[in-house]
Amino acid sequence: MSDGLKIVVLIKQVPDTSSAAGVNPDGTVDRVRARKMMNPFDQFALQKAIETRNAHGGEIIVVSMGPPPALAILHEACEYGADKGYLLSDRRLAASDTLATAFALFKTIEFIGNVDIVFTGLQTTDGDTAQVGPQIAERLDFPQVTYCEKMSIEGRTIRASRIIDGGIQRLEVDIPALITIANSASRLEHKRFYNVYRTRELLRDKQTLAKTVMTITLDNIGADPARVGLMGSPTVVGKTWKLGEKGGSCKMFQGDSAKHGVETLIESLSEDERGIEEYVL
Ligand SMILES: Cc1cc2nc3c(=O)[nH]c(=O)nc-3n(C[C@H](O)[C@H](O)[C@H](O)COP(=O)(O)OP(=O)(O)OC[C@H]3O[C@@H](n4cnc5c(N)ncnc54)[C@H](O)[C@@H]3O)c2cc1C
Repeated sequence: MSDGLKIVVLIKQVPDTSSAAGVNPDGTVDRVRARKMMNPFDQFALQKAIETRNAHGGEIIVVSMGPPPALAILHEACEYGADKGYLLSDRRLAASDTLATAFALFKTIEFIGNVDIVFTGLQTTDGDTAQVGPQIAERLDFPQVTYCEKMSIEGRTIRASRIIDGGIQRLEVDIPALITIANSASRLEHKRFYNVYRTRELLRDKQTLAKTVMTITLDNIGADPARVGLMGSPTVVGKTWKLGEKGGSCKMFQGDSAKHGVETLIESLSEDERGIEEYVL
């Protein structure tokens, strides 16, 4: 590991859910008109990659699959500290489900070659399946650590703690490995202005930028077009509907201790004419 680690971070461009731009009256998203941003979960994966590279040496390659505007998040990631990036962009990828997306990203990682660690976010704020990371690990035949909160590296071994129902699981995996990073894993130090300023100046030069973040196609990575897009996507969307139309109110229950807070909550629910059962359901 004398040259350090070759680290890939997968990042996706998603619609900015804090903006009403591009939201159709029926609640569906017009992806062309919608304001876009880096998937917030992926910022934590990038942060962990930066910490890992800074501690062990090596390079960070950010990868995204999406239409040309997704270049913006790769540029942003390089400003934050990634070394270079690839955007996999090809019309034949349109309508890819998670199986097809994972296949295309797996082929991109294979194309990059000799990758030691792949970091992904936990999930996305649009598709929200959390399937892509684990599917890629299976295809690469890499061990995977999902919901990783803490990790350290010694030689070619990663010691990790992952969040599970009711506790923390500690495990060791060998490099190469794929890790999906929990938001509680790190503070987003890379977003500090003094870090960004240095690289933003460097990347102002268009030629440097073009060499730093490259666009590639299915032909470059040798991926069979029949395995992506609609043809490579067995998922059928049966129905979609809008969530959160009911609205509601929020009431805070505080006491001088957790016990007192819970007692106040139970008391309040008992007094409510709908009864506790309705809330429990
Ligand atoms: C039938 C069907 C058709 C679809 N058609 C389209 C379509 O036409 N256009 C469209 O945009 N979406 C489409 N989607 C959604 C698309 O499948 C998902 O956006 C994609 O598979 C990623 O899944 P996810 O968002 O659930 O990611 P998750 O599994 O929740 O993501 C986990 C992590 O994987 C990584 N990751 C996920 N996706 C990417 C990516 N693209 N690039 C880099 N890293 C990534 C990130 O690190 C992320 O944090 C379609 C889905 C279905 C089921």
